[in-house]
Amino acid sequence: MPLSVETVKPERPLRVSDIEAWDLEADVVVVGLGGAGVCAALEAGRVGAEVLVLEAASAGGGTTALAGGQIYLGGGTSVQEACGFEDDAEEMYKYLVAAAGDNADKDKIRVYCETSVEHFNWLVEQGLSFRSEFVDRKLPMLGQQ
Ligand SMILES: Cc1cc2nc3c(=O)[nH]c(=O)nc-3n(C[C@H](O)[C@H](O)[C@H](O)COP(=O)(O)OP(=O)(O)OC[C@H]3O[C@@H](n4cnc5c(N)ncnc54)[C@H](O)[C@@H]3O)c2cc1C
Repeated sequence: MPLSVETVKPERPLRVSDIEAWDLEADVVVVGLGGAGVCAALEAGRVGAEVLVLEAASAGGGTTALAGGQIYLGGGTSVQEACGFEDDAEEMYKYLVAAAGDNADKDKIRVYCETSVEHFNWLVEQGLSFRSEFVDRKLPMLGQQ
């Protein structure tokens, strides 16, 4: 099928066999420079892959740039320890399953909890800073007073 503005629709993937030539090549191609894409690109680069990031918008950020920044990380992070809270992956799992309800994917929650401290440490290694401080009040969400 000849490629043209009429046949190429951004929302419909093309078959590889319909691609006549590739303009760019890389070991890892990350589509979308939001939070997930940034993490994937950083990790791929860290292990030596040549990474190409493609972003449809005029700049990266995506929904991630709009987010309130609340990240549920537990299972025994250094922030929890510094604040005097004991936690482990099992307790975190029980909490998230109770909070997420019956339709939640428990296997995914399990993996999320078991790797939570690792994720926390990874974010710190990338330069994110977390205050080791317990906030003893309800924080307003975006759109709330
Ligand atoms: C107002 C608001 C507040 C939020 N607050 C929180 C919070 O406090 N805590 C929390 O955990 N979550 C929060 N969320 C949800 C969270 O922001 C998203 O779940 C998360 O950012 C999604 O990350 P992502 O990398 O998957 O997607 P995105 O950050 O949206 O990145 C996707 C990127 O892909 C690009 N893209 C899409 N299609 C293509 C294509 N075909 N080719 C190239 N690029 C493409 C987009 O332009 C975008 O840059 C909030 C969301 C909103 C809207």
